[in-house]
Amino acid sequence: MIEELNINEENICQSCAMPLTNDALGTNADGTLSNYYCKYCFENGNFIENLTLEEAILSIGNMAEEAGVTREEAIGFASRHLPDLMRWKK
Ligand SMILES: [Zn+2]
Repeated sequence: MIEELNINEENICQSCAMPLTNDALGTNADGTLSNYYCKYCFENGNFIENLTLEEAILSIGNMAEEAGVTREEAIGFASRHLPDLMRWKK
């Protein structure tokens, strides 16, 4: 059902662009679930890793195999979409 590279801005992590399914939500400082970030990026109100945008794009490249895409595709995808996400927007 889910087209991996089809972005719905409402339902993706605003840090890494992964789809935000109910079991992938990060946690806020008060223990509630985040509406914006996944659990791999955000825990207890803080980003788990303190990354620059460039580092985040490269780390998505490293997860490409898991997602079933090539490293080039993953990095291309991340370079197009990450700069528009809430965490990275200036
Ligand atoms: Zn994330």
